[in-house]
Amino acid sequence: MSNYTCKKCQAKLRASEAYEYRGAFACEAHFDEVIEIRDFERNQIIKEEHNKTQAFKGLDLSDSAIGKANKQLLKQKIEIAGNESQRLKNYEDR
Ligand SMILES: [Zn+2]
Repeated sequence: MSNYTCKKCQAKLRASEAYEYRGAFACEAHFDEVIEIRDFERNQIIKEEHNKTQAFKGLDLSDSAIGKANKQLLKQKIEIAGNESQRLKNYEDR
C-alpha cells in the first residue's frame, strides 16, 4: 500500500516516485501542475486572510468606550480571523 497520492491525477505512488511540494504529492508528470495548484491554494488563503483583517482596518479597537463597543460587536469576527490564521499556519506546517 502506498501513502502517496498525486494531487492532480490521484495516482497511487511509491515513495521513490512521489514528488513533494509543500506537503502535497505529485507524480512525475504532474509535479509542475501540483506546484501551481498548491501555490494557488496558498494565495487563496492569504487573500482571504487579508480580506478579513481589512474589515477591521480603520476601526477603533482601543480601550475607549467606542473601541470597547466595537470589540464587543466584532468579537466573533475577530475570533474567526484568529482561527483562520491558524489555518494558514497549519497549512504551512503540513
Ligand atoms: Zn499525476
